[in-house]
Amino acid sequence: MTIRAKGTKTSPRNKKQIRKDVERLKSIFGLGLAEYVDVIELIDITLPELFPHFSCELVPDKEMADVAGLTVPAEFKIYLKQSVYDKACKDDGQSRFTIAHEVGHLFLHDQPLVLAKQEKPTEHKVWEDTEWQADQFAAEFLMPFESVRKMSTHQDIIGTFKVSNKAARCRLSKVKDEVSKLESENK
Ligand SMILES: [Zn+2]
Repeated sequence: MTIRAKGTKTSPRNKKQIRKDVERLKSIFGLGLAEYVDVIELIDITLPELFPHFSCELVPDKEMADVAGLTVPAEFKIYLKQSVYDKACKDDGQSRFTIAHEVGHLFLHDQPLVLAKQEKPTEHKVWEDTEWQADQFAAEFLMPFESVRKMSTHQDIIGTFKVSNKAARCRLSKVKDEVSKLESENK
């Protein structure tokens, strides 16, 4: 997972709401709830077929500097750094996460993120933050809770879902925390 700047304030969404959003979208996209997601097929074939106004523009690396991807939800458009696309084609975990993160912005957020980012940061809670929500979306989208809870090592997650070591470790520990919380609530 790349370190991302704090985003802008949006309507609050907690983990469970984002999980529901992911499940609803996966059924619209015709994706299995527990399977590996081919993000390239998603942006190249599935999204353009389902949403003819969707577009994804690949931008030469030198024109995108430090940014891996940018989404303009109002135009239903993702700008993706060429090298991120190329690496995602080879199942690079971090690049796959970036694409899932941008898809999260596309469906969760409606304000122009590019412009909003240049404004003064506002004080807001993490679950109201566009970047936190998009990261949470990407984690749920690529590493489904119900599958991860049955796994015992981060290598299992990497092997099945083709994510980075860091993303897999982070997801495993968060899912385990959530499962133990659920278990203690049910006692
Ligand atoms: Zn973002």
